[in-house]
Parts: sequence; C-alpha cells; structure tokens
Amino acid sequence: TADSIYEPLTEETAIQLARRLNLFDAEADLVCREIGDGNLNLVFHVTEPTAGKGVIIKQALPYVRIIGEGWPLTLERARMESEALRIFARYAPEYVPEVYYTDNDYAITVMEDLSHLTIVRTGLAEGAIYPLLSTHIGQYMARTLYGTSDYALGAEARRELALQFHNPELCKITENFVFTYPLIDHESNVVEEGLRPLAEQIWRDAQLLREGARLKRHFMISAEALLHGDLHTGSIFASETETRVIDPEFAFYGPMGYDIGLFIANTLLSAFARSEHSREELLAHVTNVWDVFAAEFTALWQENNQEPLADAAGYLDDELLRIFQDAIGYAGSEMMRRVIGLAHARDIEAISDKDRRLHIKSSAALLARDLIVNRSHYKRAPQIVEALRQAD
Ligand code: ADP
Ligand code: MG
Ligand code: MG
Ligand code: MG
Repeated sequence: TADSIYEPLTEETAIQLARRLNLFDAEADLVCREIGDGNLNLVFHVTEPTAGKGVIIKQALPYVRIIGEGWPLTLERARMESEALRIFARYAPEYVPEVYYTDNDYAITVMEDLSHLTIVRTGLAEGAIYPLLSTHIGQYMARTLYGTSDYALGAEARRELALQFHNPELCKITENFVFTYPLIDHESNVVEEGLRPLAEQIWRDAQLLREGARLKRHFMISAEALLHGDLHTGSIFASETETRVIDPEFAFYGPMGYDIGLFIANTLLSAFARSEHSREELLAHVTNVWDVFAAEFTALWQENNQEPLADAAGYLDDELLRIFQDAIGYAGSEMMRRVIGLAHARDIEAISDKDRRLHIKSSAALLARDLIVNRSHYKRAPQIVEALRQAD
C-alpha cells in the first residue's frame, strides 16, 4: 500500500529528488534547508546558490508536527494540496505557485520557490502594507470560487470534481477547532488569564452558540465551490507587486464565504494589533477585497453561467448578499478561535503590554460575536470597519 513505501525526506534525499527531477543542471552544487514553520508539514528549500535558483519540496508527515506522533493525520492532505494548486492554477495562475511534480505515495509536492516574497502575516506584523494585496486576493477568490462552482461548470462537472475533495480529516479539524471548541469550555482552548470571565460569558451565550452552530452546519453541507479552506494571512506570500496563495491542504467543496471570511478575519486581527493611525490601510483591504470579489464575480457570472435561471431579476444581487453575510459570519468564527481557541493571532500575542493585549482580545471577541450573531444586519463592507471602530 501507499503507506508502506512512504518515508520522510531528509535534506540529503530532498537534494537527490531535485536532481532526479532535473530541476537543476546535472553538475549544480545544491544546498538544502528544512524551513517549515507551519504546524503540519516538512518544507525543504533546495537551492543552487551560485545560480540564484531554488525549488520547494513540501512533504506531509503522517502526524501533526506541532503535537507529535501521538496525533496521526492522513497523508492524503498532500494530494489535496497538489490537486487544488493545479486546479486553482487553471483559474488564477498568477496567484498560485507552479507545481512541478507530485508524488502521492511520498505525500510530496514540488513547487515554485517563492522566497523572494514574504509571508503576509509576518509582513503585516512588521508594518508592511502590500498595496495590491486585497485586489489580488479578491480576484483570486472570485476566479477560483466562481470557476469551480455550478455556475461555471454546471452541476454534473462540479459534482465530479467534488468527488476528489472529500478531505474528511482536515474538515474535521476545522469543524472542531474553528467552530466547536472555541464556543465551549474545551481543554484545547488557550484562554489568557484575565480573559476568562469574557470566555465564560461566551460559553453561556445561547444566541451565539445557536448562530455558531448554524454557521458550522452550513460549512459542513454547502458544496458550492472548491475552497482553499485555510486562507489566513499565513497562507499568502506577497511583495509590493505580487501575491501568491499557498498551502491549500484543507481544500474541499464548501461555502464560498468561508475563504472570504478567513481573509477578512485575519486582516481585522492584524488591524486590531496596530496602533490606530496605522490601521487605515488594513481596513481599506477589508472593504476592497469584498468590492473586488463582487465585481469580478459579477463579470464572470455575466460571461459564462450554466444556470438557465441565473438571469432572473435580482438573483445575482441576492447571491452576492448571501455570500457576503456568510463571509461575515465565518469571519466572526475565525476571529473567535484566534482569541479563545488553540491557534492564536501571532501579532496580537506579540503585544507586550498586558492591559492593551487584553483590551484588544476582548474587543476582537466582541466584534466576532457581533459578526456571528448579527451577520444578517451587514449589507455593505464599510459596516465591518464601522463595527471594528465601535468594538475597540
Ligand atoms: P504548513 O502546511 O505546514 O503550514 P506551508 O505550506 O504553510 O506549510 O509552508 C510553511 C512555510 O514554508 C511557509 O510559511 C514558508 O515560510 C515556507 N514555504 C512554503 N511554501 C513555499 C514556497 N513555495 N516558496 C518559499 N517558501 C515556502
Ligand atoms: Mg501553512
Ligand atoms: Mg522568506
Ligand atoms: Mg498547512
């Protein structure tokens, strides 16, 4: 079986693989470093320093890296990632790394080296702006989400494609760690001393739990489009001029609003972590990502739509409003888990002044609650920015 020939690469065998794939000149002097900083996988950076050339070899481990061998996790996620990157490249090639090679038995994806770019989460924490970030991400999301939907493909082709992306183990991680655990007093939550009273209020908030449960249910049953599934700012590389989305191992057929909500939530969290006067450009990304998404989605809809009823007056507007309100709710779920759950927002944790850090966490949790419970009151993107100002 596949599992029996699998073994983790080392820096030496990663170099051998790069040679075997003829990714460098036969005589090239190669060096390799394992640079993975994620929670789950190995990432080897193989370079030919004298030529300034490199490739990335990403390999899944059969367990969760930060937890260790005690928490097994399917190697199938490497196939999900490779397949998703190849499909996203059909719709938005300028926004994903090129995949050079996939080996499902070894759970390996060999891809374009993006080391000339910076991980956006890191850059934002250091005060970077990325002027084109929200325009690029809005286009990326509209093209990949619309392109893999019934509207573009027709129901039959969409169902066929969805069969490749069951991804139950990774979906279960999201269902538990994003949707369920932050709303109950679960042992995996990391609640900072001082935030406990607010957390306990959250766990007793019947309206919040009910709306959180509805969002989770919608996530589980809505096979609208092939999602990235983990589109936080740690999954985006950027510079002033370029943007690339990496790490779609959580890809599955789900609600379009989930990808949009994750991007919005993580941008809002970075905005909270900043001082008031340097927030504006991040808040502009929040409104712009929606505006660009909606405009691009509309253009794609008008260009090619397999749904004969799609021209019904008002239907496109209804769809856009529903996707927007889904995104608002999912942004709330994601913000809540970054404050109460296991995986926190690094830029907020890095704030050394305890009072300020606690104030930001409470504000973020209160905003998250409003986004979840009152998502149907949100009709326009600037309302998100107004709500953040009120919560702070
Ligand atoms: P994980 O699934 O474990 O989170 P990621 O795909 O997010 O793994 O990669 C972890 C890190 O490896 C990234 O934050 C980045 O520093 C580096 N990395 C991943 N892919 C590339 C790439 N194509 N080019 C350069 N560096 C990369
Ligand atoms: Mg990652
Ligand atoms: Mg780098
Ligand atoms: Mg990952």
